[in-house]
Amino acid sequence: MTDLVDRSLFETTPVIVTPSRSSVPELAVGGVRYLVTNDGLKIEARSRVLRVVMSLSSGIGLPYGEVANAVELTCGPIPTSLLKEASDAAISCSPDEWAGWIYWDRGQMRYRLWHADGPRVSASPGSIRYEPPIVDPLDVVFDLHSHGFGPAYFSSVDDRDDRQFPGPVVLTGVLGRCVAGRAPESCSRVVANGRLFPPWPSLSAISL
Ligand SMILES: [Zn+2]
Repeated sequence: MTDLVDRSLFETTPVIVTPSRSSVPELAVGGVRYLVTNDGLKIEARSRVLRVVMSLSSGIGLPYGEVANAVELTCGPIPTSLLKEASDAAISCSPDEWAGWIYWDRGQMRYRLWHADGPRVSASPGSIRYEPPIVDPLDVVFDLHSHGFGPAYFSSVDDRDDRQFPGPVVLTGVLGRCVAGRAPESCSRVVANGRLFPPWPSLSAISL
């Protein structure tokens, strides 16, 4: 292949035909690739904290190997206490929106919650604008924000923002009906290489 753009695309986002009798080499951290499997085309993406495999099409019946859809938290489940901290922060900011990232602190070997606060944050009941934290996107596991008193759902603005996440893969979530004295509504999803996927059942273990 002589074209540099084509060559770069194929090198950074390869397509792997999955063998049925041999294993596929492990995907490197920061990588994204497409897998042709026995039941269709899948995307695999990996950061330091997440590895996901998601179906892009299914039911093709190709004569290749099987790769299960997966959401793996490489550093273990997110502590409930951190999710509660995020929930409490979202409630205390209501009716304004709140935003935070849960990331893996490689120095301290634990998950931490970063809150959007300070003079560079602009929050209202309908939006929040903030400077992202100085955290390597490969360490971010959960990109969260709230809708204040409003319902938890992914708006068209959320879709646009999530597609622009700078890492290969992340979980994103929305908290809604943030009222003191009760647990907020929540929804969450996988974002891989700018693609948005519906809520994944195993996310219930880490969802608020
Ligand atoms: Zn939103």
